[in-house]
Amino acid sequence: MAESTIVSNTPTLLKYRDLDQRGSVIAEYVWIDGSNGVRSKCKTLKKKPESVDELPEWNFDGSSTGQAPGDNSDVYLRPVAMYPDPFRLGDNILVMCETWMSDGKPNAYNFRHDAAVVMQAHAKHEFWFGLEQEYTLLGFDGWPYGWPRNGFPAPQGPYYCGNGTGRVFCRDIVESHYKACLYAGIAISGTNAEVMPAQWEYQVGPCEGISLGDQLWMSRFLLHRVAEDFGAKVTFAPKPIPGDWNGAGLHTNVSTKEMRADGGMKHIEAAMEKLAKRQAEHMDVYGEDNRQRMTGAHETASYDKFTWGVANRGASVRVNRACAEEGKGYFEDRRPASNADPYQITGIIVETLCGMVDG
Ligand code: ADP
Ligand code: MN
Ligand code: MN
Ligand code: MN
Ligand code: MN
Repeated sequence: MAESTIVSNTPTLLKYRDLDQRGSVIAEYVWIDGSNGVRSKCKTLKKKPESVDELPEWNFDGSSTGQAPGDNSDVYLRPVAMYPDPFRLGDNILVMCETWMSDGKPNAYNFRHDAAVVMQAHAKHEFWFGLEQEYTLLGFDGWPYGWPRNGFPAPQGPYYCGNGTGRVFCRDIVESHYKACLYAGIAISGTNAEVMPAQWEYQVGPCEGISLGDQLWMSRFLLHRVAEDFGAKVTFAPKPIPGDWNGAGLHTNVSTKEMRADGGMKHIEAAMEKLAKRQAEHMDVYGEDNRQRMTGAHETASYDKFTWGVANRGASVRVNRACAEEGKGYFEDRRPASNADPYQITGIIVETLCGMVDG
C-alpha cells in the first residue's frame, strides 16, 4: 500500500523482535479513553503470569486522555483479562484493563464495571452475545481507502462479499487482523466485505457475559494496530459518508439459556415486549451519531420506534428464520451503531430483560 508518510521498516523490526528477552515478559496494558478510543502502554514483568490476578495494578495520566482533570490526574488500571500478544509473540501479553479513580470509584468511561455487576447478578441465565463489528478503512487523507481522490466509486452492488480488483479494498488488512485475533484467542467467528467499498465486518462471539465486551474491545485494539502497519486509518463512525452509502452497525446477537432450550421462542417474545418499553434508553447508549445511520433505509429501522420480525432486516430486532422454525435460538438487535460500547450494549440488554438485581 502506497500513499502515506509512514517510515516503518518491518524487516529491521523483525530482527529485534526475535531477540531473547532473558525471561522478562512485556505486558501491553490496554484501556478505553474518553473519546471511544483505545490507549495502551507497556510494562516489563519478571515472569510470565499464570492468571490475570497476578498482574499488578498500574496507572496513567488521565488528563492526557480526556479522563481526569489535571489537578487529580492519576487514573488506575486494573487488569481484567489477558491475551497472547500477536505482535511481540513469545510469552508477551496484551492486558485489558478497567479504569478507576483514586477515591475508589470507577472512571466516568469505565462502562465495564456496571455491566459486570448486572451480569454477575443474572449469571444463572447464561447470556451469550455475538457482535457483528462493521467499520471503514480510510487512507492517510481520511477518504475511504481505494476510492478515487476527490470522487466516488461506482454505486453499491458489487462490493458486498465481493472479490476481484475494484470490488474489494484492503483485504490484506482484514486477513492480517483475522490472524492476529485468532492468535490472541479472540473468539472471532468470521468476516465479510460490506456493502460500501472499503467497509468491512467481522463477528466476535458467541461469548458469555462480560467476556464479549473484553474480547470486542481487544479486537478493536488489534484492528487499529494492524491497520497502523499498513498506513490505513480505521473509523467506526456509523455514517462515514453521507448519502446513498451504507452506514456501519454493531448488530448484537443475544440468547439466554432459556431461549436456547426447547420452547425458547416464548422467552424471546417476552424479551421483545421488554425491549419495546425502553427504546429511548437503549438508543441513548447505542452509539454516537446513530440517528444519521438509522434512517429507515439501507436495512435499518426507525430510531424512535421499536419493531421486531422474523427475517426482517428493516426491524429493530430480527429473529432469524431458523430460530422461528425450531422455536428456540437467539435474536439480533440491529440498532447499535458501529461505534457503540459493547459493555454498554450488553449491560443494558441484561438489565432490561432481567432487572438491575437478581429477582
Ligand atoms: P448476520 O446474518 O446478521 O450477518 P452473522 O453471521 O454476521 O449474522 O453474525 C451472527 C452472530 O451471532 C455471530 O457472531 C455468532 O457468534 C452469533 N451467535 C450465534 N449463535 C448465537 C447464540 N445462540 N447467542 C448469541 N449469539 C449467537
Ligand atoms: Mn512520564
Ligand atoms: Mn453479519
Ligand atoms: Mn453487516
Ligand atoms: Mn446482522
